[in-house]
Amino acid sequence: MDDSARTLLQTLPKVDRLLENSALVRETADLPRSLVVEAVREELDTLRARVLGGHHEGLPLGHNGGFDADAVARRVLARLESWLRPSLRRVYNATGVVLHTNLGRAPLGAVAIERVAEVASGYCNLEYDIDRRARGSRHAHLESLLCRLTGAEAALVVNNCAAAVLLLLAALARGREVIVSRGELIEIGGSFRLPDVMEASGAALREVGTTNRTRLSDYEAAIGESTALLLKAHRSNFAVVGFTEEVSGEDLARLGRRARIPTAEDLGSGLMVDLGEYGLGAAPTVPGVVASGIDLVTFSGDKLLGGPQAGVIVGRAELVGMLRRHPLARALRVGKLTLAALEATLLRYLDGSWRQALPALRALTEPVDAVGRRATALRHAIAQQVHEGLEATVVPSEGRVGGGALPLVELPSRAVRLRAHRTKPEELERRLRRGRPPVIARIDEEGVYLDCRTLADDDVEAVAAAVARCVD
Ligand SMILES: *Cc1c(COP(=O)(O)O)cnc(C)c1O
Repeated sequence: MDDSARTLLQTLPKVDRLLENSALVRETADLPRSLVVEAVREELDTLRARVLGGHHEGLPLGHNGGFDADAVARRVLARLESWLRPSLRRVYNATGVVLHTNLGRAPLGAVAIERVAEVASGYCNLEYDIDRRARGSRHAHLESLLCRLTGAEAALVVNNCAAAVLLLLAALARGREVIVSRGELIEIGGSFRLPDVMEASGAALREVGTTNRTRLSDYEAAIGESTALLLKAHRSNFAVVGFTEEVSGEDLARLGRRARIPTAEDLGSGLMVDLGEYGLGAAPTVPGVVASGIDLVTFSGDKLLGGPQAGVIVGRAELVGMLRRHPLARALRVGKLTLAALEATLLRYLDGSWRQALPALRALTEPVDAVGRRATALRHAIAQQVHEGLEATVVPSEGRVGGGALPLVELPSRAVRLRAHRTKPEELERRLRRGRPPVIARIDEEGVYLDCRTLADDDVEAVAAAVARCVD
């Protein structure tokens, strides 16, 4: 250690002295003392290491060149504040990607939020049968509703769709074979790879057909003694075009019945209603797949269904019963908060208010004119708050469904393009992203884009204020 470092370190305040700093005492009066002491120690350790490492720039020094105790105390407070700030935070999604997996997929509708708050704020009948004054089942709450909506005989809710597939394979095909088309050995969002889930479940994968063509005769020829299941997986996040052939759910279901082998389809998206009239193409719906005769269908709660993270299995009562009784069902079960949110979401399909009440469905089906009006309102709100140094223009944009669903669908949209006179697009994007609350935007060489399909009318003022804070 050189002399200057030694001299500087001698001015570093001691722990006890910092703990008596008046600002620190005032600001931390309600916090556990052990936490404050830990923050002080960490801060002093950090400063000491920086001096020893020769990184002197930005050190909290006073006029005399030594450490300034007040400035060090402010850094301790900042450290405590960062510890106490929740890591999981609300952000504004201005990307135009409706079911953005990194941004939490579907936002919950107001009714679902109310139901979660109500159920969470006291006790509830999660496993209590109020009529019979007896123990009940958490699985009972949503079953009849799911059956009514999908046309299935039985239903079971688990943690997510990956869990639904895992449970299905473990309960029906452990130690036996599952026949899957090579064109459907999907990977979704990095960590869900059908062959890996299959392996984890203890089922053996029997691939048939080729990447682009699989015929019913391929499945038929592969059926043998150890066949436990015929599985179809929906290609949620990619498409195969050109010289292709795949077996329909109807045909696979018919083959399964003839061979007395259960059939299942992993649908993923959980679309409940036909969105064709909103320009979203002909995506398979859950009721449609159930009607095709497939025995079991699995789907997510937070994709096109527009609800909380969950995995739903609907289908034949006997098979759903086997899944429910499997030991893994206990490990993969959902909690009361999820059930409350999912039930409130599903009820919106029953009462017909899904388009207005579920934010993701609203965002997917909203006419581009309405998105444009929001963009104009946002541009106007920004102009009211920022008087110079920024150019905000409404421009055509393109949204996406996201969440590994409907990969080919482009959602026509409108965005507000921001160009700051004194700040580069990358810097403006970074400031928006790191603001409080964060605004997640798109960027190119031309500027920063706030896509208004994924913003709500109620977000406009807050986003405009966030923009104002980022402009020099
Ligand atoms: C998204 C998806 C899954 C995984 O769903 P999670 O709810 O994220 O676990 C599984 N299968 C298909 C076909 C999907 O699209």
